[in-house]
Amino acid sequence: MILLDGNKLSAKIRSEIAARVGEYCGNTIRPPHLAAVLVGDNPASQAYVRNKIKACEEVGFTSTLIKKDASITQSQLLELIHELNASEDLDGYIVQLPLPRHIDEEEVNLAIDPSKDVDGFHPNNFGRMALGMSSFLPATPMGIMMMLERYDIQTEGKHCVVLGRSNIVGTPIALLMSKKTKPGNATVTIAHSRTHHLPELLRSAQIIIAALGIPHFVKADMVSPGTVIIDVGINKIEDPANAKGYRLVGDVDFDNVKDKCAAITPVPGGVGPMTITALLENTWRAFRQKF
Ligand code: NAD
Repeated sequence: MILLDGNKLSAKIRSEIAARVGEYCGNTIRPPHLAAVLVGDNPASQAYVRNKIKACEEVGFTSTLIKKDASITQSQLLELIHELNASEDLDGYIVQLPLPRHIDEEEVNLAIDPSKDVDGFHPNNFGRMALGMSSFLPATPMGIMMMLERYDIQTEGKHCVVLGRSNIVGTPIALLMSKKTKPGNATVTIAHSRTHHLPELLRSAQIIIAALGIPHFVKADMVSPGTVIIDVGINKIEDPANAKGYRLVGDVDFDNVKDKCAAITPVPGGVGPMTITALLENTWRAFRQKF
């Protein structure tokens, strides 16, 4: 079994990005600059944004954290988005989701300048991705593709079952895996909450990408020997033995599944760090489109 180590691979790719920054930027060219907009005080969002900012520092990017109170109005947030779009100093930015209930996420997403949309959620980028044109890819699917490529996982002609159809993970990774690319060229089935006979379907898969958000959903008896498993899920479960009272687990019952697999990502330390590394790559690309 190959452990698809997202921490190790991310460290390698981030050192490559840092080297590029060192070579390219000097006295005349400023470093790439990413901003993150954080609205409210959702602890998970705070942690994600903290990790993104830390990663920027690691590779020599400039980063700006813009914190706004949960009471921000739709028009105030849109005004901020317009300012970020206009800023010459900024290459890309993300608006950390979820946003408070009174904010229309769709309107916010549509207001983001596609050339700064390093999360790849704007329809311009998503549509370009669907058409196989160059675009900013959503960070989690992009991180998965980078991982498959770097570990030289063969995907061509394989049956890939994607569990989940969200706009940020399930749908885009299913699209990317089905494209005529390497990695890619897989035969993809998207499964979701209404899918019948899921265990049988999963047993027919040679690649499983699990993105449902249900702890330990994929059990050993749903997996055929030799399957490649990408576990996207990040779920908190109670754990009195842990000082925090909880621990993070994936959507796959890792301990009981791992020995049946050809390769598997751990949680934490699999797709999570690759997502942030993909965001750094997108920011680098946004920067290079300007300089
Ligand atoms: P989501 O809630 O938007 O979507 C979940 C999907 O799972 C839905 O499409 C739903 O149809 C499907 N689903 C729900 N129950 C099901 C069932 N019983 N059988 C089959 N399908 C079922 O979730 P999301 O935003 O795509 O995130 C999924 C998981 O991935 C979460 O745990 C989230 O925290 C994690 N995540 C991780 C990263 C990362 O960087 N590692 C990034 C994004 C999301």
